[in-house]
Amino acid sequence: MSISRRDFLAAAALGSTSMAMGLSAGSQESRHIARPAPAGKRPALIAKNTGLHSLDAAYDLLRRGGDTLDAVVLVCKAREDDANDQTVGLGGLPNEDGVVELDASCMHGPTRRAGAVGAVKNIKNVSVLARAVMDHTGHVMLVGEGAERFAEKMRFPKENLLTERSRKMWLLWKETMSHQDWWGPGLSDPNWKPPAPPTSEEWRRKREQMEQVAAELGIEPEWREYAIERVLHRQHGTIHCSAVNEKGEMSGMTSTSGLEWKIAGRVGDSPIIGAGCYTDQDVGSAGAVGNGEENIRVAGAHTIVENMHRGMSPLDAGMDALQRVTRLYNNDKTRLRYIQMVYYILRNDGAYAGVSLWSQSYTGKRAQFAVHDGKARLEDTVALFEGAYIEWPPVPKLPEGK
Ligand code: ASP
Repeated sequence: MSISRRDFLAAAALGSTSMAMGLSAGSQESRHIARPAPAGKRPALIAKNTGLHSLDAAYDLLRRGGDTLDAVVLVCKAREDDANDQTVGLGGLPNEDGVVELDASCMHGPTRRAGAVGAVKNIKNVSVLARAVMDHTGHVMLVGEGAERFAEKMRFPKENLLTERSRKMWLLWKETMSHQDWWGPGLSDPNWKPPAPPTSEEWRRKREQMEQVAAELGIEPEWREYAIERVLHRQHGTIHCSAVNEKGEMSGMTSTSGLEWKIAGRVGDSPIIGAGCYTDQDVGSAGAVGNGEENIRVAGAHTIVENMHRGMSPLDAGMDALQRVTRLYNNDKTRLRYIQMVYYILRNDGAYAGVSLWSQSYTGKRAQFAVHDGKARLEDTVALFEGAYIEWPPVPKLPEGK
């Protein structure tokens, strides 16, 4: 019996870890009670967990009177430079054509300016490029070929961003999974139906097939399991960092290679000012990692800053934005479980919050964020739903009857 992609994906979703975590038994909504935010400390930085190792240097820069934008660039650029971070910059996983396309945005509180770039190829440090758009043009956003020509004029080095490892993982996806994953209908299509679960035997056979293809492609043995997991279950990438200095000046920045295997030219939330990043230093700064399509539709980062402007604590402001995401799907968990969203929130007094739609990844890893207000550390997010999300498939292909 042959296994359809849809069935297989459902097995991945339901037959494995997430079921063990009780997701199918109905995930619990966290009992979140509105409460005042703790008084903050300045300076302070908040970032995606992967930014942890750069926070000491960025905090130091703030202590020495450095600009908040320099501090957030430091954190984001370090991720872009790291070929082992496959969610951003060099080594980022490519689009469905095997081409790495990057998005980034920034806001500088003291001058109230913004810069962004979308769908940029061959330029590794798009965080710096977004800043250059802000500093050297009268525009806020450049995309695609125009953004690349601008980068060339600004003497940004052109380089191939597709590492061998990422290329082989793309091939593994092409050979074992791809049926044009991001082509419609989408999760928000009214005709969408959740996939039917396949048997454990089908699931086992699929994994065996993937292991064989991974070996044939020359993926190093120690990377094979990881590569298979990444192809089966995409993980959230992106780096966001927001900072406040002693004077209360703030900046925010977000950089990403976006959703892997996306349709060429797709731009996510990260470079959209107000969705992936928003800073108003009279109030605070926020950024997002997660499903960009949903975050764009709730203008997540702006919603959060606006909520704080109206008096909500960072935590309540973030929970409200998450509830707006759930409203996109009428709180329907059969769809919401395919989405993860993490918001990083910093108020201008240094109070902060990290919130997530789900408390865990499909592997059971607790959702966390990095923060530094005197000591760099990871903290657990406050989650709207207890349990694991299922990152894949983003959209099973054909709804019944089509
Ligand atoms: N938000 C990013 C995007 O949609 C992806 C991610 O954070 O995983 O492009």
